[in-house]
Amino acid sequence: MKLANQIALVTGAASGIGLAIARRYVAEGARVAVADLNEAGAQAAAAELTAMGPGEAFGLAMDVSSEEAVAAGVAAIEARWGTVSVLVANAGVQIVNPIEAFSFADWKRLLAIHLDGAFLTTRAVLPGMYAAGAGSVILMGSVHSKAASPLKSAYVTAKHGLAGLARAIAKEGGPKGVRANLICPGFVRTPLVDRQIPEQARELGISEEEVVKKVMLGQTVDGEFTTVDDIAELALFFAAFPTNALTGQSLIASHGWVME
Ligand code: NAD
Repeated sequence: MKLANQIALVTGAASGIGLAIARRYVAEGARVAVADLNEAGAQAAAAELTAMGPGEAFGLAMDVSSEEAVAAGVAAIEARWGTVSVLVANAGVQIVNPIEAFSFADWKRLLAIHLDGAFLTTRAVLPGMYAAGAGSVILMGSVHSKAASPLKSAYVTAKHGLAGLARAIAKEGGPKGVRANLICPGFVRTPLVDRQIPEQARELGISEEEVVKKVMLGQTVDGEFTTVDDIAELALFFAAFPTNALTGQSLIASHGWVME
């Protein structure tokens, strides 16, 4: 088992990519805190994962954009299991709108969930990781950490910002044994993406099928969606990597949509 004795906090883990990562981690023996705004979803996911084993999970309500909620959540994990050794800052939302019609409230909400969320969760787990002299911080970026698309100004801005944050954590954490890396998925068929298809069709004046074929998958090498399991595999790779050689990196998994 690649994650025996590891204690992981995965945010946004009641659904989609976060849930797949939590499942993969438990399958590799980790104890995983399934944190989400959706408390009922987090509890249900944790019960399912604990029943699956060999690791275990517990669900907790956490709004990652709230300083108090993050501090309380991390304190609860530490009281239950001890120091968090792997953080996956994954919670996120998408809001599509042209810039001139983007409300300031939506802009601030999106940046708060992605950027404040990654900052607050990282800040909360670092003291424990530093005391242990080890830890892996994984931030959930996107192809939009590297490239832009119309209608996604706040998301593109937030995801580019996370690339900078991962590097800053890597620089500060390196001497103390803490690594930080960014995962950059292409389109993955989750509720976050399913919601965008009709929204983008309406905004761009094209059919939903065209949104999928042209906008989402048009620049991939094979017209395929990336899967939640593809991303869980990368999250396992970063969590289980044995040395500090792999830090400050970002890795794209997008069926070749963006290559670098
Ligand atoms: P999803 O909607 O399936 O899951 C997101 C989860 O985050 C939900 O359970 C939601 O309740 C939770 N969440 C939202 N706001 C929160 C908050 N303030 N505090 C705590 N939890 C909160 O979405 P997903 O597709 O699995 O996305 C997960 C991450 O992957 C996001 O950061 C997203 O930007 C990123 N991503 C997704 C794709 C994709 O194509 N699906 C591509 C690249 C990156």
